[in-house]
Amino acid sequence: MSLYQPLSLINGQWVGASSGATFDVINPATGAIVEKVADLSADDCKAAIDAAEAAFPKWAALTAKERATILRRWFNLITEHTEALAELITEEMGKPLAEARGEVAYGASFVDWFAEEGRRIYGDVIAPHMADKRILAIKQPVGVVAAITPWNFPLAMITRKVSPALAAGCTVVIKPSEDTPLTALAVCELANQAGMPAGVINCVTGMDAPAIGQVLTGDSRVRKVTFTGSTQVGKILYRQCADSVKKLSLELGGNAPFIVFDDADLDAAVDGAMLCKFRNAGQTCVCANRILVQSGIHDRFVEAFSARVKAMKVADGKTEGSEIGPLINADGKAKVEQHVEDALAKGATAVCGGSPHDAGPLFYSPTVLVGVTKDMRMASEETFGPVAPIYRFDREEEAIALANDTQYGLAAYFYTEDLSRTFRVYEALDYGIIGVNTGIISTEVAPFGGVKESGLGREGGPHGIEEFLETKYGCIGIKL
Ligand code: ADP
Repeated sequence: MSLYQPLSLINGQWVGASSGATFDVINPATGAIVEKVADLSADDCKAAIDAAEAAFPKWAALTAKERATILRRWFNLITEHTEALAELITEEMGKPLAEARGEVAYGASFVDWFAEEGRRIYGDVIAPHMADKRILAIKQPVGVVAAITPWNFPLAMITRKVSPALAAGCTVVIKPSEDTPLTALAVCELANQAGMPAGVINCVTGMDAPAIGQVLTGDSRVRKVTFTGSTQVGKILYRQCADSVKKLSLELGGNAPFIVFDDADLDAAVDGAMLCKFRNAGQTCVCANRILVQSGIHDRFVEAFSARVKAMKVADGKTEGSEIGPLINADGKAKVEQHVEDALAKGATAVCGGSPHDAGPLFYSPTVLVGVTKDMRMASEETFGPVAPIYRFDREEEAIALANDTQYGLAAYFYTEDLSRTFRVYEALDYGIIGVNTGIISTEVAPFGGVKESGLGREGGPHGIEEFLETKYGCIGIKL
């Protein structure tokens, strides 16, 4: 039996669009239609908010332990279905199967972690300002949450938002990316099987994201919107949430610098750059978008790094050993091509790659460019593809200034063996996430999120559940 139904989940029921409309989900590696999924209208989506609102009081009234038991069952089911979920991820978004398995484990880890964290929501008892007063601050769930998610991590971006929301006692309406709704539907089906009460998780699928977004942000019963996606759409949602003053978490674009200082461990820096740059074919918001290398190590780094890049296997994610799958769609591929053409025209040189790959229409060769400078498009925009642009610098302050010269502030990385430099640079970089001597920073236990135009709020760790809680102050007068 299939792991999902190509419908939307509202109040525990699988439902189609009232018009009967569907949209196609495409395998980016082959161009084949994987599925036809219910294309809900904005009006159809209102029923999901009704359901989430109706389910909220009962779900919030459960004990944290009761909610944790259901979340834990959900975690077990996701883990048991790792292979089928990984295949679905690869089929609808293209990443290599090995990475898709990694995403299932990573995505499931949030369910596990927040099932436990929900039992550790504490308030405060504060020393009063008057003898006949007692002061409390309790934590309560914010209410109905709308979660709007992107295609690059079709499973993990959902669990990272939904698990803390549910653990806190909120109910949710998920709007997955129209490129990757199937994984979302599968995890929702597993939530049903785990015994999630009707209406606690709802999932609406549809092509008209702006109209659905209007409904979710325009309804005053939705008390929180949590979004991962482009900065452009994040700003629209920020404005739309203003009218009903919703709480908001935004995880938006990045322009991650990856700095290699002369005193770095070269092998470790190359390993880190490979993972950080080429995971998901470069389609993550924390992928290195600018590799800054100090002059003394520059040539050795370029040689060792490009040798590894040249050896990467580009193929359909389902092919054994594939390391680079297709880009998500034609727009994504066109952007990568334009960025590389622009850099080459302005004086950069391709050490390897620099052109599309013949594995299929949406594949692009892993590319290393040297001589990249600030005036090129890829210096200020996120390329979101398998392209590693290398900038040369001489001094530490120059690297910091270059790294901070962007409106984004999500992740930054640097490699050094010098302890004092570690702290100087860690503190000087204007980013929400700093990787020192590592290219992989994502984990369920740590607060993930950006500063500046990379967003608001944190996901993961103890901070992640705070985003779904309100603090209620109580001032209690007593007779002495
Ligand atoms: P990406 O480029 O990663 O697809 P987007 O910001 O376009 O990023 O999309 C992320 C999510 O936001 C997707 O689920 C998409 O359908 C949704 N989305 C796109 N435009 C809007 C909008 N105007 N309002 C609400 N959601 C939107």
